[in-house]
Amino acid sequence: MLKTFDNTVNGQAVPAQRSFESRNPATGEVLGLVPHSSADQVAQAVAAARAAQPAWAARPDAERQAYLMKVAETLHAQADYLAEWITREQGKPLGGVGPGQVPGSRFEAWGCEVWTQVPASLELPPEVVFEDAGRRDVLHRRPFGVVAAIAPWNWPLLIAIWQIIPSLRTGNTVVLKPSEYTSICSLEMARLIASVLPPGVLNTVSGPGEVGSLLVENPGVDKIMFTGSGATGARITAAAAKHLTPTTLELGGNDAAIVLPDANPKAIAMDLFWGAFLNMGQTCACAKRLYVHEDLHDALVAELKALATAMPMGNGLQPGIAMGPIQNRMQYDKVVSLVEQARAAGATIVCGGQALEGPGHFYPLTLVTDIADGAPLVDQEQFGPVLPIIRYRDLDQAIASANRLDVGLGASVWSQDLEQAQAVALRLQAGTVWINQHGAIHPMVPFGGVKSSGWGVEFGMDGLKAMTQAQVVSLKKPS
Ligand code: NAD
Repeated sequence: MLKTFDNTVNGQAVPAQRSFESRNPATGEVLGLVPHSSADQVAQAVAAARAAQPAWAARPDAERQAYLMKVAETLHAQADYLAEWITREQGKPLGGVGPGQVPGSRFEAWGCEVWTQVPASLELPPEVVFEDAGRRDVLHRRPFGVVAAIAPWNWPLLIAIWQIIPSLRTGNTVVLKPSEYTSICSLEMARLIASVLPPGVLNTVSGPGEVGSLLVENPGVDKIMFTGSGATGARITAAAAKHLTPTTLELGGNDAAIVLPDANPKAIAMDLFWGAFLNMGQTCACAKRLYVHEDLHDALVAELKALATAMPMGNGLQPGIAMGPIQNRMQYDKVVSLVEQARAAGATIVCGGQALEGPGHFYPLTLVTDIADGAPLVDQEQFGPVLPIIRYRDLDQAIASANRLDVGLGASVWSQDLEQAQAVALRLQAGTVWINQHGAIHPMVPFGGVKSSGWGVEFGMDGLKAMTQAQVVSLKKPS
């Protein structure tokens, strides 16, 4: 008998009226049933968040901090349980935390704890923004009210935490809708978090996009945090326009990594590899197009091939596995189609490139060379275990290539000449440009995209401020 997982609303378990299956992408096994929230249930979740919000915002700041520290302790205590659910449902291997470990589900669970502790420890005190003999102006940070958090399937717990914790820290309450592909792990985490918070502070609904659409259209929602594809981001923006609901949009990217002629292929290969293949490439800020100077192209391709062909792939619950399956069939089909188009157009498949047998969505790590701008594998976000490597001669041309697409989430420059690398970094159109690393996010460092990769930032003080609206109290001093 399959278990049906519950939503959490107002501190209570909400049983499903309808449900759908969630499957393990490594085995095809049905893991359990996920509620498809009804319109009434979505409205109830928003109403519960609205009812709880004034009292949550009115608590002394130190109390909200203490609650979030309790959340961090809960995440710590339940890290193994949550990591196993992530692997079962999302597919990334369990891996470990720390240098030399595969960054998998345990890393994701650990990240949830850290991205809870850090915002919990930050302060946003009132700020005197102007004062003279006649007036004193103090800027206060007020919560929006109810935040709708809509999460994707690639880092289902970590991205939800990025949306939930800064919202709660600043006095908002939250309704989370996880991805329909990774609902069980997300609902389980939200249930555990809600169990140490006052009722109604964190609530969940679940189901496909139409449930998300009911949530963002609800006039009781005061701010939308969305992470996902550009197409959905555009739909959400249109829905938000109806009530002028503010949004933070973290959308797709197609990050370019540029390797300068002086880089050392051996020294950079491992970091570049993980920069491209973290979570099987299913990471918003993975390196998705690699531009390599012709002088070291062949040497770097050889280093990357050695790594790609040595990584054990399989069911991530088994020890020693470094690479899991692609999370869902739609994504798998997209990867297959991009590789086949590249092959048909004459590109070289250096390794991989053939779908693997088996019940899971396994596709080998694939490197593609003899490919250029304009190929679908270069121009579209592949979001999977395939990396196109483009040979360049002229650095200005490589920079122009990196900037020619309408997305700008991350980018990276690889060189031993740090001055030149910084000069190149400043010419790249991306929310973050890393030097000699890629995708190295940190809870104190703002992260967000430019161009069609979205607007607004998460993390650090700027991320916290983004969950508040400014209120100025302006005093005329007695003469
Ligand atoms: P998606 O847009 O298909 O789905 C994301 C979420 O939106 C899901 O929960 C889905 O159910 C919901 N949704 C779908 N239609 C909706 C609607 N009309 N109204 C409200 N909600 C709706 O994205 P995905 O496939 O889950 O995620 C992959 C994409 O996310 C990639 O493009 C990736 O680059 C991007 N991403 C970006 C970041 C970032 O920080 N910029 C992080 C991770 C993923």
